[in-house]
Amino acid sequence: MVVMEYELNLSTTEFLYFLDCPQKFRLYRILNPLPYKSNFMNSSRSVISYKMRGYKSKKDKGIKYHHFFETFHKKYSRIITNTTPPEEIQEDNVKLLYWVIQQEKYYEKKEDYYWYPFEREVRLMTEKQRGKIDCIELCEDKNGLRVIDYKSTPELNDHLTLLFYASLLNDYRLENTDEGKFDCEVLEVGCYYYEMGVKKIYNLTEVDRLAFERILKNTQEKISNNEFFLNKSSCWNCNVKTICKIEIGRN
Ligand code: SF4
Repeated sequence: MVVMEYELNLSTTEFLYFLDCPQKFRLYRILNPLPYKSNFMNSSRSVISYKMRGYKSKKDKGIKYHHFFETFHKKYSRIITNTTPPEEIQEDNVKLLYWVIQQEKYYEKKEDYYWYPFEREVRLMTEKQRGKIDCIELCEDKNGLRVIDYKSTPELNDHLTLLFYASLLNDYRLENTDEGKFDCEVLEVGCYYYEMGVKKIYNLTEVDRLAFERILKNTQEKISNNEFFLNKSSCWNCNVKTICKIEIGRN
């Protein structure tokens, strides 16, 4: 496999796949070619399109909740101080937990613009990375941004994923200064675990930032050198197992 310079651009999935098993990354990339920047940044998928592409019901549920979080502030800003949430929220525990956490945030914030997300479901592509950030908030009392990822429950790579998004947003800002879309850099990152109603926020430290840059650079160097070894300890959980078996058989 000849890897061109532009093909070193990584999505979050590709990055984590490579760390898990380089061969898995390689097969995934063959099946999902690198998109053009304009196509990637302007594409959006509806719930129905995910259904048509055969996504499992758990994923389907996650997409519906992402849509709920995306539209929440616009839909409920006028009634967020009500003591009783609307019926459609009371009927669903995930929505109810989100209502509670947003109501608390509403009462704690100093200005309304700290309650509203700065950006939602934003797709960014830089020279080295690409990805969709679920939510970008303004950090109160700091001149900075906070990247939020919505997840159902905690997973092993959550912190690494957040560092990936922080790097993506900070690089996008530096590569597109003429756009003026993001005035300040990422100072905080966090996950909102929607099945638990828990939000975990971390300061983005310089140590974290440099450590991530090193991991990303090493990964891209290995891809460039065609270092696609097989990590068999990850086979039990691999979604390209069948293709891998055919490939190994052929070689
Ligand atoms: S089946 Fe195993 S070796 Fe093959 S790509 Fe998947 S994780 Fe890697």
